[in-house]
Amino acid sequence: MKITVLGSGTSQGVPVIACECDVCSSEDVLDKRLRSSILVESNGTALVVDAGPDFRQQMLRANVKSLDAILITHTHKDHIAGLDDVRSFNYITKSAMKVFACAADQKEIKQEFAYAFEANPYPGVPKIDLIDLNLNPFYIGSIKVVPFEVMHMSLRVFGFRFGDFAYITDANYISEHSMKVLNGTKVLVIDALRKKMHPSHFTLDEAVDVVRKIGVETAYFTHVSHLMGRTVDVQPLLPHGMRLAYDGLVIEM
Ligand SMILES: [Zn+2]
Ligand SMILES: [Zn+2]
Repeated sequence: MKITVLGSGTSQGVPVIACECDVCSSEDVLDKRLRSSILVESNGTALVVDAGPDFRQQMLRANVKSLDAILITHTHKDHIAGLDDVRSFNYITKSAMKVFACAADQKEIKQEFAYAFEANPYPGVPKIDLIDLNLNPFYIGSIKVVPFEVMHMSLRVFGFRFGDFAYITDANYISEHSMKVLNGTKVLVIDALRKKMHPSHFTLDEAVDVVRKIGVETAYFTHVSHLMGRTVDVQPLLPHGMRLAYDGLVIEM
């Protein structure tokens, strides 16, 4: 299985328009973060987790020619705004894109992209096949998907385990039950927004604590804001086995 971090940033650090901080003005590619998403590929099957505003650019940049499904963690705009661009895949495959989302998220997607769900839609609208997502594990092609819940302040967000790899974005609390699902994970990509407290995201210190509690060998921090600081400055502060994720990071499992 191959995992590619398509984006490791947040809407707060895109870089920010007209921001002259040392991250937003950095020439270092490690500081240039699109909105958070991953691509998971195995034996000819490819899926992405979330399709934010940078989805199209990420598909082009990673040269993704076929995509079997999109898993939705939650419906904040930095995670679903790019769903309109599935039309390119619709055009190639002549079929709808499978989008896995929980019932509440499906309702929001139907409101947000109402034109795609009309009885007689305008020609060329994105074709989205919404499929129920709950806590039951399932397969997309050869990839086993194990969903689990994390909390993003008061909002339930889905995390996903794929074999010995797990992905958690947008969270500041993980229940004991979900920690059990994560037990035995070897590589983790997890939300760490910035160093300062935030009401709905793990800080860097909180994320380090979670990584230690789960006991993974290797962890990468994602959904990183420009307020985190430059990668070159933050990386030396991190414990052994932990790194800031970056766009284009490839993890082979
Ligand atoms: Zn969010
Ligand atoms: Zn987010």
